[in-house]
Amino acid sequence: MKWLQALITGVRLAARLARPKNAQARIRTDSFFRRRRLDIQRCADNTIPPPPMQWAACHSSTIERYKATMTCANGHVLTLQGHAIHRDGTVSPSVVCPEKGCPFHEYVRLANWTFGRIT
Ligand SMILES: [Zn+2]
Repeated sequence: MKWLQALITGVRLAARLARPKNAQARIRTDSFFRRRRLDIQRCADNTIPPPPMQWAACHSSTIERYKATMTCANGHVLTLQGHAIHRDGTVSPSVVCPEKGCPFHEYVRLANWTFGRIT
């Protein structure tokens, strides 16, 4: 998948270079919601840790603090404690896998998120 990442990086770089200077303010306000998000599926039985590319909600007594647990494409488990989750499941900022050497870095949305906005 390295070639794919290189391609994505190249496209992003080209897009950045192609932007007219006076469009900067508009891009800044729009980019958060317009950015293509990777959907992370909801773990059907809420198992923690969830399978790769799935998420599970933290226990109701800790959800405000720890929010959700997800597993990256390479099987590493991470908690979205430091992230904000919006009403539609959009996570900000982007999710970087903390595992050393793991290339997972995505803008994600937790599919079927039903817990409202948690910041
Ligand atoms: Zn990882």
